Amino acid sequence: MNSSPPHCTSVSRAFVRGSSPPRPPPGAARWGNFNNYYRFHDTLSRVQLLPAADWFRTHLQDSHPSPIASRPSAPTRLVALDIGCNSGDLTQHIARHFVSEDIPLDILGIDIDAHLIQRAQDQVAQPNVRFECLDFMSSESSSRIQPYLTERGRSRFDVIFAFSVSMWIHLNHGDAGLSTFLGRMAAMSRYIVLEPQPWRCYQTAARRMRKLKEPEFEHMKHLSCQDELSLTKLLDELYARHNLKLIQDLGTNDWNRRLLLLECPSAMSVHR
Ligand code: SAH
Repeated sequence: MNSSPPHCTSVSRAFVRGSSPPRPPPGAARWGNFNNYYRFHDTLSRVQLLPAADWFRTHLQDSHPSPIASRPSAPTRLVALDIGCNSGDLTQHIARHFVSEDIPLDILGIDIDAHLIQRAQDQVAQPNVRFECLDFMSSESSSRIQPYLTERGRSRFDVIFAFSVSMWIHLNHGDAGLSTFLGRMAAMSRYIVLEPQPWRCYQTAARRMRKLKEPEFEHMKHLSCQDELSLTKLLDELYARHNLKLIQDLGTNDWNRRLLLLECPSAMSVHR
């Protein structure tokens, strides 16, 4: 049984170009790489929860130093990363939202699944949106992402979006992987918008694998949390470990997932 993801290796790039890529059985997407995700997951109710445009202006645009101090600078372009972008619908919606609020934004969407990224690239209609196939947990992820920042004269992102991806990282990489995930984001950005899945989603994902007779998530039994309360406690501990400050609970979307705004240690030195 092949349970590895359709990574962007040279082999899977060939699959992207080829005619019949190997897909997991419907529903057995062990990285959350569901094929028709956006048929079932509305993007509007999540974009609506994002902080108001004024928040981005004050905390992100205005806090970039102007190259010529005496001259009023043009609005700063924000640079964002969307981790686990699937086929890119939410990434594109976020980009349109910023443009409609008059905030120029460049956004890079990354996903572990080459087929989904190919679809995202085929559908992209905005020049400020780019998609790349990349496993954020791989050792090469930082060096693969760095050129995107360098091209824009930045050392870090203004904001990283991580919608409904933390559970897949947790299930596939365990507690240590979840910590690495948060630590990497903390080092790479000024703010993080995080939509962590609740514990019941872990149970549903594990049940789905059993039902489809797919291998279990090897880390599931060993996670230090086994209910909602202990998952929340673990996340709080990891925020503290990586000096992430929860600055706002942005609310809950239509299907009851919370959206959190976290400040990274680097934001504190830039902004204050
Ligand atoms: N963020 C989107 C899609 C969530 S589904 C939204 O909320 O609308 C989770 C996505 O994360 C899947 O497309 C899956 O392929 C991707 N993913 C899981 N692990 C990943 C990893 N290590 N690196 C990059 N993407 C990953």
